[in-house]
Amino acid sequence: MKRPATTEPCPCGGNRFGDCCGRFLDRSQGLRPASAEELMRSRYCAYVLRDEDWLQRTWHSRTRPEGALTEDGVTWLGLEVRRSVLPEPDDATGMATVEFVARYRAGGRGHRLHEISRFEREDGEWRYLDGSFPEKKK
Ligand SMILES: [Zn+2]
Repeated sequence: MKRPATTEPCPCGGNRFGDCCGRFLDRSQGLRPASAEELMRSRYCAYVLRDEDWLQRTWHSRTRPEGALTEDGVTWLGLEVRRSVLPEPDDATGMATVEFVARYRAGGRGHRLHEISRFEREDGEWRYLDGSFPEKKK
């Protein structure tokens, strides 16, 4: 997908790309997501726009995989954030979670990814740590 103009709708469902995830993906402003949910939304957009660099730099160094993170033949269709939980003040791990459903098309079929992502701060920024899949078939 082509990068939307700043006034166009954000792929994550936000009103204007420039005020939503675009301000992070446009590196020139040097802005960082202030919350785990903002980071999660920007990462969804990075998958949509195949911004590998943003996916790499927002992945926690402890769990960051090597190699390409986006795939050919996948078209992302939409994002629904279900729940966003900040760390409890007394939680020493400081982890935030965001539960979402992302829909996509691959191999001529529609799919949905239901994930509960965990985020942790690193170097003062939220980073993606890992995710679990509540509905994944065994
Ligand atoms: Zn957005």
